[in-house]
Amino acid sequence: MKEIMPIDGQFAMPALAYDELGTVISKETLSFHYGKHLKAYVDNLNKMLPGSGLEGTPLSEVVRKAEGGLFNNAGQVLNHTLYFEQFSNTPQPMSAQMAALLEKSFGSVETFKKEFEQKGVTLFGSGWVWLSADKDGKLVITQQKNAENPVTMGLNPLLTFDVWEHAYYLDYQNRRADHLAALWQIVDWQVVEGRL
Ligand code: MN
Repeated sequence: MKEIMPIDGQFAMPALAYDELGTVISKETLSFHYGKHLKAYVDNLNKMLPGSGLEGTPLSEVVRKAEGGLFNNAGQVLNHTLYFEQFSNTPQPMSAQMAALLEKSFGSVETFKKEFEQKGVTLFGSGWVWLSADKDGKLVITQQKNAENPVTMGLNPLLTFDVWEHAYYLDYQNRRADHLAALWQIVDWQVVEGRL
């Protein structure tokens, strides 16, 4: 994962190359999820950083060291930045090397996708499902609650699905499983693999 640095003490919103993602994530969902939820996390993070002792450090280090409200807002900024940057209306397919890595860890790409969706469906309450690489390069899936991110476990996060209700409720209501299954259509594997 590429480190995200503050500029003049402030973290910025990730730039998006889209304002809707076909039928998978509507313009209305993006306007709330990106424009309101993420904006609030970024604003809160930037307000809480001064005096924390973590000014000028990469976002992943803020997440690893902060507690309480600063951890929650920093975590959500990191999580949503990775989330929104991995999607595209013209997504690049998975490379043969990535498919081989997934096969090595999960048996097959299809088994990986099913297990990833299942971990998202069975996460009780709000949180995130992640694909990460450990320090030996092995790929692992983790369920993380609320604002948690795999960097706190020494993992390198590659891909994430947001299972907070705000991510899908306007488009899919209670059908979290259908939403997660649809997200594969917009995952840009070039971005995901670039984090390895
Ligand atoms: Mn979210």
